[in-house]
Amino acid sequence: MLYDFHTHTFLSDGVLSPVELIRRAVANGYTAIAVTDHAGLGDQERVLDILVKECEMATAEMGIMAFPGVELTHVPPKRIAEAARKAKSLGAKIVLVHGETIKEPVAEGTNQAALESPDVDILVHPGMLTEAEAEMAKKAGIYLELTARAGHSLTNGHVARTAMSVGASLVVDSDGHGPGDLLTEELAQQVAIGAGLPHDAIDAVLHTNPQAIIANMVG
Ligand SMILES: [Zn+2]
Ligand SMILES: [Zn+2]
Repeated sequence: MLYDFHTHTFLSDGVLSPVELIRRAVANGYTAIAVTDHAGLGDQERVLDILVKECEMATAEMGIMAFPGVELTHVPPKRIAEAARKAKSLGAKIVLVHGETIKEPVAEGTNQAALESPDVDILVHPGMLTEAEAEMAKKAGIYLELTARAGHSLTNGHVARTAMSVGASLVVDSDGHGPGDLLTEELAQQVAIGAGLPHDAIDAVLHTNPQAIIANMVG
């Protein structure tokens, strides 16, 4: 059982086509993948038009559950709710928001705006997440991400501790942009344990939470 809800293709800044990425995920033993290219208000149609078709084909023919999505990236905070709603209307099964990673000058207020948006499912690489933001995530049922991506992962320990302190739900994603970036079961475990999660929390983060996200997407 291996799940990953955050990956990129050459439709944004990844290197593989959607079907190449999905085939690699099958080879790594994935149960499910979400393909979530960077997008905003201007390019969601282009990205989702392709991802919806490719994920439908892969789910039917390739022995994996593949879900089309977007990672709303550098959308001004006050337009995030609108962009998320639009993504869902265009066929996105899952909407991620590119959170306030310490690696990039993400607009202040992005985490909060994401957590106030009913169509957002995961706030990814939330950086110096505050306890108030973690509380909002818990209340909204929005997942917070521990990432395998170099750089963004610098704050995994802080994100894990802050989320756990209020009982907000976590997932582990690859944020894969290339063939070497995808998760394996071992890597997902290492990211979770390396972030400081206690061993008895690992099963929820790696299995129960992803299964709930999938139930929500297929329901
Ligand atoms: Zn991102
Ligand atoms: Zn990403």
